[in-house]
Amino acid sequence: MRVKGMQEEIDMKARIGTKSVWAGEKEFRVFGGTQVPVVLSVAYDYNDVDEWYDVAMGLKPGYTYNRMSNPTVRSLEEKVRLLEGAEAAIAFSSGMAAISSALYTFLRPGDRVVSVKDTYGGTNKIFTEFLPNINVQVTLCNTGNHEEIEAEIAKGCKVLYLESPTNPTLKITDIQRLAKAAKAVGALVLVDNTFATPINQNPIRLGVDLVIHSATKFLSGHADVLGGVVCGSAELMEKVYHYREINGATLDPWAAYLIIRGMKTLHLRVRQQAQSAMAIAKYLQKQPIIEVVNYPGLESHPHHDIAKRQMNGFGGILSVVLKGGMEAIKLLLPKLQYANRAGNLGAVETIYGPARTTSHVECTLEERKALGISEGLLRISVGIEDTEDLIADLAQALAYVETQMPVSLNNK
Ligand SMILES: *Cc1c(COP(=O)(O)O)cnc(C)c1O
Repeated sequence: MRVKGMQEEIDMKARIGTKSVWAGEKEFRVFGGTQVPVVLSVAYDYNDVDEWYDVAMGLKPGYTYNRMSNPTVRSLEEKVRLLEGAEAAIAFSSGMAAISSALYTFLRPGDRVVSVKDTYGGTNKIFTEFLPNINVQVTLCNTGNHEEIEAEIAKGCKVLYLESPTNPTLKITDIQRLAKAAKAVGALVLVDNTFATPINQNPIRLGVDLVIHSATKFLSGHADVLGGVVCGSAELMEKVYHYREINGATLDPWAAYLIIRGMKTLHLRVRQQAQSAMAIAKYLQKQPIIEVVNYPGLESHPHHDIAKRQMNGFGGILSVVLKGGMEAIKLLLPKLQYANRAGNLGAVETIYGPARTTSHVECTLEERKALGISEGLLRISVGIEDTEDLIADLAQALAYVETQMPVSLNNK
């Protein structure tokens, strides 16, 4: 097995923060260095042909060619594997490469996928554009309507694909409940765990087969590298590995190094971000200019109970609907001081993005309406700044919007 994990005995006993720092690294350090090196050599040298053959066939540990595997990339894979409690993990050149590779590894013409309407924009395009091209039928259910999703699963499917919390409305799906329904019809369950991170949610414990991350977001945490990871059982991951080695969406060793470095502070960042997100959500709930606050940590969230049960924390992302819609967002964004206005999330800096220019930029106004995406919807990816400064920043910017838009506010 070329994908199987290495060091379970040492690391599985540690808590998640300790694992974030130490897991997956020792095996790959050289020359007494305290950090995993970036191994750039594309190919590897052998003493004799028999050894070469054994490594190439996966009979002996070792490396052949960087599209197949690389020590720096392997170290990252081990770290994510141990954080998610999986048997094996495979890294990809982006989150979308991880998602598409996982899907294309297992889907064949004639198969059926059940998923939800609120998946990540790129994933949604795979479901609506690319899978139908190869005669894979996709049924997208209303996110959060568990009865509807269960009924669709019961009709039979090859893959159940879920994301929780969703982007950008932070809807929550009961993963354990739906995984059980999927197992009853022999379906594979895939979950995009990007928003939750392994700190806040471990889908494998909830009965999921494959867990997927865009490492571009929280895992790396510094908005300076693209990457993706899939993890699951050794048996399934062997197939995903084979798909990657041939189709070639391998992660670059430099990128792997940056993600490893970012992941050493994953638990600190995610805990700080969740604490600030909760405080900001509570603050925004009280502001007259805010119509809706979406955050699974709020008791008013329709699926707060499910989130409390299946998550260890509620995450660093919230979204709000501003009264005054896009006009209000246009006034607000330039006034924010501690803010990147960008189509990204999960970084150390706070990032603001309207659905219209980020997650749902490719949708028409009508499509956004059908998905319940209001023109005033603004996603906030909370960074690691001090909470008080983030709230003060929002307060001054919202005060400015209110001076500019008193009429629309009175109308509400
Ligand atoms: C960003 C993101 C992706 C895609 O990841 P890339 O690294 O940009 O390809 C997939 N799922 C979710 C939830 C994301 O936020």
